[in-house]
Amino acid sequence: MRSPSPISPATVSDAVLAWYDQYGRQSLPWQHPRTPYQVWVSEIMLQQTQVTTVIPYFQRFMERFPDVHSLASAAQDEVLHLWTGLGYYARARNLHKCAQTLVAEHAGDFPHTVEEVAALSGIGRSTAGAILAQSRGVRAAILDGNVKRVLARLHAVEGWPGKKPVENRLWELAEHYTPHQRLADYTQAMMDLGATVCTRGTPNCSACPIQPHCQAHANGNPQDYPGRKPKKALPVRTTVMLILRDTQGRVWLEPRPSSGIWGGLWCFPQTEDVDLFDEALAQRALSASDTPQPLPGFRHTFSHFHLDITPLELRVQTVGTRDSNGRWVDPAAPGELGLAAPVKKLLSRLDRPQQTSML
Ligand code: SF4
Repeated sequence: MRSPSPISPATVSDAVLAWYDQYGRQSLPWQHPRTPYQVWVSEIMLQQTQVTTVIPYFQRFMERFPDVHSLASAAQDEVLHLWTGLGYYARARNLHKCAQTLVAEHAGDFPHTVEEVAALSGIGRSTAGAILAQSRGVRAAILDGNVKRVLARLHAVEGWPGKKPVENRLWELAEHYTPHQRLADYTQAMMDLGATVCTRGTPNCSACPIQPHCQAHANGNPQDYPGRKPKKALPVRTTVMLILRDTQGRVWLEPRPSSGIWGGLWCFPQTEDVDLFDEALAQRALSASDTPQPLPGFRHTFSHFHLDITPLELRVQTVGTRDSNGRWVDPAAPGELGLAAPVKKLLSRLDRPQQTSML
């Protein structure tokens, strides 16, 4: 079978372990003793959270819940209380649920294979590997964010690790380099290397034990790895905003429905198409007194779509708008109304009216 890397596993693991002996973190509270329970709780706390932040939380948690049985029998509120400030509370709920499963189905102990551990609540393949490698010395690879970065740079692996082929390639490399001895130290060493040397912003390549083999370093572009998440193309919607102006130059604004985009804010009447302006005028008992004038269009972007806005300016004759929900306002002084951002923008571009009173 083709080797996933031309670099031998021992070349990397020996260098990383020698570095760990000198610079690695060896006195973390969950390393003494490295029980599956302690490693598990620490791994869950460390997701999206720095080691220095986790340490006091971990210590308080262990004082209150020294083993899986005490955690399983606790009230969820108490578990959440001890998690307060760590964020991502689903982690705490899963931890609690998982403790109950361990007690109910595994006699309070962790199973022995990665597949079984990864089947528990809130535990993925990498966390399962970390628990078994660190607490039991099982030869199991890990691929957390730090390790992904180190391996992506070491082999200049292109692409975003959220894509399956990229993730598979990184797992292949992680498996390749995982040694057969000192699993706990190697696992900790790779995490430490990513967290302290091969950092996201400016990796300290001159202090890195695997620098002689690193392709990204040789290419001079470690920051390009791992690849960033591609920006999703947002759908584009369109709307026509009718800027209705009365004989005094004032504009007609209406409040939006309270739910949906711009809920409750004041806006110009909108239509789906420029040809539908007559209909919109009739609904408001208005009639056009001139030919509509299109103004330069622009794009307003929401988190989930782009809205391409075509403004259409219309001189109108007012007939029955007093009873309606809207208002005629001076575009330069619309009063204390909550305005949708594109409306504000358009108002600032309009000519001032001759008079500014409101109806
Ligand atoms: Fe990361 Fe630099 Fe080491 Fe390569 S040489 S693994 S980029 S720290």
